[in-house]
Amino acid sequence: MPASAAPAPTNNLDAFWMPFTPNRQYKAAPRMLVSAKDMHYRAADGHEVLDGAAGLWCVNAGHGREKIVEAVRAQVAELDFAPNFNMGHPKAFEFASRLTALAPKGLDRVFFTNSGSESVDTALKIALAYHRARGDAGRTRLIGRERGYHGVGFGGLSVGGMVANRKAFGLGLNGVDHLRHTHDPARNGFSRGLPEHGAELADDLERLVALHDASTIAAVIVEPVAGSTGVLPPPKGYLERLRAICDRHGILLIFDEVITGFGRLGAAFASELFGVTPDIITTAKAVTNGVVPMGAVFASSKIYDAFMSGPEHVIELFHGYTYSGHPMACAAGLATLDIYQEEGLFERAAVMGERLADGLHALKGLPHVIDVRTVGLVGAVELEPIEGAPTRRAYAAFTKAFDDGLLLRTTGDTIALSPPLIISEAQVDELVGKLADVLKAID
Ligand code: PLP
Repeated sequence: MPASAAPAPTNNLDAFWMPFTPNRQYKAAPRMLVSAKDMHYRAADGHEVLDGAAGLWCVNAGHGREKIVEAVRAQVAELDFAPNFNMGHPKAFEFASRLTALAPKGLDRVFFTNSGSESVDTALKIALAYHRARGDAGRTRLIGRERGYHGVGFGGLSVGGMVANRKAFGLGLNGVDHLRHTHDPARNGFSRGLPEHGAELADDLERLVALHDASTIAAVIVEPVAGSTGVLPPPKGYLERLRAICDRHGILLIFDEVITGFGRLGAAFASELFGVTPDIITTAKAVTNGVVPMGAVFASSKIYDAFMSGPEHVIELFHGYTYSGHPMACAAGLATLDIYQEEGLFERAAVMGERLADGLHALKGLPHVIDVRTVGLVGAVELEPIEGAPTRRAYAAFTKAFDDGLLLRTTGDTIALSPPLIISEAQVDELVGKLADVLKAID
């Protein structure tokens, strides 16, 4: 073979070490997606799969949107890459301005990253550096929450609260503590929207202040609705209480909106829906409709301004990524925001969310169902685990659903639903109907 000849394509599955996947199990019975349009994936065997998960909570405008495809195509032809260190390109500035116009009032600065994990680590670093810039360098402690998921960087792992994601990777950051989680099925089972009970759990932060002293605490990070641990909406009043305690003690509040940002709950951000404005918001995923990897961290001007007091020739924040504000990501993001706005998708999510909630709550009483939780266009159906084999039942539901033409996401024994916001009423009904059939069919 001449050296220049391309190697023959291979379908050998060995080389790809797959993320968050039991590799041997998957490779023994692979599920391949080969194309996607609007609400559907097409699998390698040709069968269509209704996307009940928006890919991985990211394809909010649906698949294969021409406007985004065209924007990316045009961008890569015109300017494929431009550094944003001491240089710039117009679309990064334009996109940042468009994003801040959408964000809750006061969050008017944007730092670009390439993923949710990077957004979280960026937010934690900004929080630490902010206090230092103000001469309050003793504030180094970071507070997360049990059952929180903040990605897989060492910062996000440390403030996160999912044991399997943490235990193999050493001690993580020093000086991290956790609030208790808010999941309380005994009092809040089968809640529609925000659960009634649990606002007082925010007072855990007062306990940590009493233990460590506020002068050592930089920031608290929570997901407004915990997604990856099974869709846990915040108890009524909880986020307000957390905000008040942070204010009382000069602690920054970070909302991780990697899932809840960009319309998932029927408003641009969970912060807007719940009427609680944090100091920093982390986002990723739907910021570009999942088409090009990107994350965006929103910070208040108060935070940004605190960095702007030193000599003007000195870098204010020693942080950034080669691909922060990548031209293709910005082009995809601008087209994505256009679609969200032109098609009123955030409002649509609120309406379709009601229909999804109607359907999912009606599954109460079907085999294995021990809880249903819904908020915005997100739902969770929690199944009774098989004794001695946690996760098996949900996995069986996942594979059966896929074979039947429905993509679900599972975490533990919870099935999570988060379809693209373009979903129609008939497709919501189809999704719920297919799920009901799956629940009746599995052991
Ligand atoms: N934060 C939250 C709340 C998430 O749900 C996720 C991913 O699901 C992340 C952070 C990490 O994002 P990524 O996988 O893009 O690094």
